Amino acid sequence: MALPVGSAMVLSRRIGGRSTRLAVFEVFSWRVEVRPGVWVAFTNAAAGNLALHVGDNAGDVRRRRSELERAAGLGARGFQYMNQVHGNEVATIAPGPAVPAPTADALVSRGAALAVMVADCVPVVMVGSTSGGGPVLGVAHAGRPGVASGVVTAAVTRMRALGAGEISAWIGPSVCGRCYEVPAGMRAEVSAVAPGTWCDTSRGTPGLDLPAGVRRQLKSVGVAVEYSGGCTLEDDELFSYRRDRHTGRFAGLVWTATGDGTKADIDG
Ligand SMILES: [Zn+2]
Repeated sequence: MALPVGSAMVLSRRIGGRSTRLAVFEVFSWRVEVRPGVWVAFTNAAAGNLALHVGDNAGDVRRRRSELERAAGLGARGFQYMNQVHGNEVATIAPGPAVPAPTADALVSRGAALAVMVADCVPVVMVGSTSGGGPVLGVAHAGRPGVASGVVTAAVTRMRALGAGEISAWIGPSVCGRCYEVPAGMRAEVSAVAPGTWCDTSRGTPGLDLPAGVRRQLKSVGVAVEYSGGCTLEDDELFSYRRDRHTGRFAGLVWTATGDGTKADIDG
């Protein structure tokens, strides 16, 4: 299977008369420090496939994950991945080093660096403020079954149980409603439980607008959406399962500079 490999551009730069080699990783399609000390990012195809379950070489996947952690400045900490099964289970992750991937479709934590993998499903990243201590972080994998079964609102509920007050969300790239054609019966079934998803595709056939459904769900529980990414099927820089059944997975990420949120000042 031919999968894009992680790419790194090594540059030489002269600093103070001495030559220093810097590795610059062009691995993010979007990366912003959304609160002081709190980062949200989405990778691109140049980061390579990050999933262990798509038939790719496991050693290559682990190497790309390590490169990504270096690019994010995580130090010895790793991103916490999950074994995603299109359900609505939420796993709470203790701050500290990553643990074996729990079977879940959302992760929440008071400081652990979190990752969600997708290729057309909707990756949702969330940050919640608290009245003391660090932020509450969350990620969710919202494909069609996850949108229908409310995995995103389940993650919000768990974040609030961990003390999150104001919560904001960043929605990564996913297949858009113009491109996501489904049978008419499926459109009726999903839109009945996830309002806002009903749409027609650009060809005039029945479609589902999953990112619109996720935005509606977030709004219904008082979560502000600060960013919403483009369409994976229309962008060759991203992985799309609908464009290529043997594709890799890219990731939505959230992490704090310190790992426990103690220096991440988003209270208020
Ligand atoms: Zn599209």
